[in-house]
Amino acid sequence: NPQKTFEYRIMPYGEEHLLLIARDVTRVSQLEEMRKDFVANVSHELRTPLTVINGYLEILAGNGEELDPLTQKAFLEMSSQTQRMQSLIEDLLVLSRIEASSERIYENTVDMPAMLRQIKLEADALNKDKGHTIAFHLDEGVKIYGIETELRSACSNLIFNAINYTPPGGHIDVYWSVTKDGVKFAVKDDGDGIEQRHLSRLTERFYRVDKARSRKTGGSGLGLSIVKHVLNHHNSQLQITSVVGEGSVFFFNFDAEMIASQDPVL
Ligand code: ADP
Repeated sequence: NPQKTFEYRIMPYGEEHLLLIARDVTRVSQLEEMRKDFVANVSHELRTPLTVINGYLEILAGNGEELDPLTQKAFLEMSSQTQRMQSLIEDLLVLSRIEASSERIYENTVDMPAMLRQIKLEADALNKDKGHTIAFHLDEGVKIYGIETELRSACSNLIFNAINYTPPGGHIDVYWSVTKDGVKFAVKDDGDGIEQRHLSRLTERFYRVDKARSRKTGGSGLGLSIVKHVLNHHNSQLQITSVVGEGSVFFFNFDAEMIASQDPVL
């Protein structure tokens, strides 16, 4: 039935038989589609009014000399909160675009070292008041299949998180390495680390380890959800190892079938 969606499982049944179990998930997937559409539409509709509010707030806050200090402070705070809301909405839109993406990864190739060098410029700017030592270790010569905008957003989320959540003066290393079975991307920091019990939940939407502290860093809690979806779309998976007091490593692998071209080894 073309109108229905089924999930199948095959199990052994006795010595000689297999059992095929088909579960009708039509309703579940319809609801999931509705949720995705709803989030995408609401985010889109919220964008315009917020842009208008923020524009006027900036004008009002800009006329600072004529305002008493309390009013001026109030305008600045309102303006910073609307900007937070704007970036939250942008993240929600990115997430729903990736969820809805039917773009085929095997039709495009990405030069990851070139892309990572661009992210490095933004990372250096973000690092200005943090004073971390950030080093990029990039193997050249391999192009992978993938969607550049998606991979850029995944890698920059991991790199910016390391910068934001590591106490000032930390060390952050970014690796793009050709391995014997494929390629590997990793971001290593020597920040506070994350307790084991949080690790499996980090990629859930809006999940944050320390709500108060995360709010101060201005993130939306959607960053790692975006990373998870991008990697799903690219046949990979986010992995995290972390030791409290020592730091964290966020990484993922692409196996050999994701390699589009490889320079001959000289
Ligand atoms: P956010 O917008 O809060 O940064 P993310 O989904 O990117 O959302 O991250 C979820 C949570 O994971 C963060 O709020 C933070 O508590 C934790 N986290 C992410 N990266 C790191 C890191 N490198 N070191 C420590 N904690 C991290």
